[in-house]
Amino acid sequence: MSKVLIIGAGGVGRVVVHKCAQASDVFTEITLASRTESKCKAIAAEIDFPVKTARVDADNVPELVELLKKEQPSLVINVALPYQDLTIMDACLEVGVDYLDTANYEPLETAKFEYSWQWAYHERFREKGLMALLGSGFDPGVTNVFTALAAKKYLDEIHELDIIDANAGSHGQPFATNFNPEINIREVTAPCRHWEDGAWVETGALATKRSFDFPEGIGPMNIYRMYHEEMESLVKHIPTIKKAQFWMTFSDNYLKHLEVLQNVGMTRIDEVEFNGQKIVPLQFLKAVLPDPGSLGPLTKGKTCIGIIARGIKDGKRKQVYIYNICDHEACYREVNSQAISYTTGVPAAVGGIMMLAGAWRGEGVYNMEQFDPEPFLEKLSVMGLPHVVVEGEWPEL
Ligand code: NDP
Repeated sequence: MSKVLIIGAGGVGRVVVHKCAQASDVFTEITLASRTESKCKAIAAEIDFPVKTARVDADNVPELVELLKKEQPSLVINVALPYQDLTIMDACLEVGVDYLDTANYEPLETAKFEYSWQWAYHERFREKGLMALLGSGFDPGVTNVFTALAAKKYLDEIHELDIIDANAGSHGQPFATNFNPEINIREVTAPCRHWEDGAWVETGALATKRSFDFPEGIGPMNIYRMYHEEMESLVKHIPTIKKAQFWMTFSDNYLKHLEVLQNVGMTRIDEVEFNGQKIVPLQFLKAVLPDPGSLGPLTKGKTCIGIIARGIKDGKRKQVYIYNICDHEACYREVNSQAISYTTGVPAAVGGIMMLAGAWRGEGVYNMEQFDPEPFLEKLSVMGLPHVVVEGEWPEL
């Protein structure tokens, strides 16, 4: 008997609620809380399982504490925005509730992606006998688990890691992001960092381009190197990794719009004076761009997210590619959402199942690669995201 409190009624929140309701043997009670309760009610109305709703400002610790005391959940799944991670962790500590999220904390005023703030909670969670699982989405999340699987089953030592994320789908809009536009654009426009020989190497945002031939009929697409948070925890927990890079596909059309928006200052995250009031250009841009939640019925095609791990097995050089393919239209038919929200929301629900069922337990703050990958991947497959393992050779990126 486990009650879950899901915070955030956006694209990912919708999928998490659907998936937790499908696993009602584990999540026997579900409450969905967010800043705008009407969005929670709209999601609850789609689901054939009783879902309670509530309004909460997740920036406000006393409000969160009050909600947690009232609901008394066993677990909080945080799928609001990365800005709320620390306040929700504070409230979990105060009331004594386990915590899970899908994105690392970011301060509102700087686009800075690092785990230091959340790792600093380890002792406090440990002392209270609580567990926090960080980054249980797809990337971060499943990509960490794929890497742990490569380290457990396929390689004795991983030396190089390429995480490759393709959205080979299309929504037909001139410019739109597949998840929260503010978070997406902050991430994509940040300077690139990759790990090489024990240090971070900084290069320009999206300045390094390669082509990668994706499997299962997707074919060759341009991929661009960027920083992504799972590399930080992976190189810490799997120290044999000498080089780690993260790659993502972007269409020429997306890049053209992004360049113009950047050049005219619309992606700025500092305040500017406008008609006697202060506005943040990127927040204004979010308000005029399509809501990612509205792209579900429009998006066709597939995503392919995976890792190539290269290293040694039994003294010989070996490479393994582990990936998932997900179909936008199939996701929409199942949970009214496109594949980007789906591939994030399903692992969040599965991470919750691992914690509540006791398959993944620990006291303190953990990343996904610190646990046995196999029970997670078995459940993930049953819940809609199977994976493929191919041993072979791929060109160096
Ligand atoms: P959305 O913007 O669609 O949804 C965010 C939700 O959080 C909205 O319902 C919003 O409320 C709510 N919210 C925002 N601020 C507050 C607050 N102060 N108090 C309460 N609720 C709040 O985002 P997504 O669903 O696309 O993304 C959710 C999370 O998933 C993000 O953290 C994102 O970074 C992460 N993510 C992770 C991925 C991964 O693979 N690991 C991939 C994609 C996303 P309102 O509706 O009122 O604005």
